[in-house]
Amino acid sequence: MSVADNIRYFQGIIPAGVKLVAVSKFHPVSMIREAYDAGQRLFGESRVQEFLEKQKELPDDIRWHFIGHLQTNKVKQIIGKTALIESVDSEKLLQLIDRESEKAGVVTRILMQVHVAMEETKFGFYPEELLEYFSERRFESLKAVHICGIMGMASNTDDMRRVRSDFKAIASIFNRIRNDETLNLSGFDRLSMGMSGDWQIAVEEGANIVRIGSSIFGERNY
Ligand SMILES: *Cc1c(COP(=O)(O)O)cnc(C)c1O
Repeated sequence: MSVADNIRYFQGIIPAGVKLVAVSKFHPVSMIREAYDAGQRLFGESRVQEFLEKQKELPDDIRWHFIGHLQTNKVKQIIGKTALIESVDSEKLLQLIDRESEKAGVVTRILMQVHVAMEETKFGFYPEELLEYFSERRFESLKAVHICGIMGMASNTDDMRRVRSDFKAIASIFNRIRNDETLNLSGFDRLSMGMSGDWQIAVEEGANIVRIGSSIFGERNY
């Protein structure tokens, strides 16, 4: 199966209303171009330098999602260049994105990354931290960031019951925030979860963005 075949396969099988982010990290521009020619316009990258280099070489109508851990010293470089930063994993990072966006005169759309997985290495807000961030209305100080929803990852395990319960936990946080009318959030409607190995479960649990890399582009050589 070629990259183009894989794109067409996923475009055919992913339910309407769920967006496919083709995660192209570590893969060359030529492969992204092949996916683009098959109609894909939404791509995900996880490293700032790699993202910027690829963006320069590819068509302007690609929408780029940044999905990796974003170091504070690199924020400035990507402001204005992403359709969505999915991986905002601390309040410090969020505030910096806000300041730099304001300076640049743009509004940056972001997702808050929540940590429910059993690995300690995964980044993100713990559920209680995230709920507190909203209940204390700390988002009201943001001037140039639009919080569009939540991104999360399941534990890295073959135990699909654990994966499903992780997705349920992420979806439940998302719904608690979204359904809290006192918060008055507008456009808080994106739930990004699911990768190559678990996207179907994620969609069953309510994901409306899935991030798929290796099933489209093949294995990565880190
Ligand atoms: C790499 C990555 C993906 C894609 O993973 P695959 O298993 O290759 O589909 C999805 N989300 C994030 C945050 C990633 O870093």
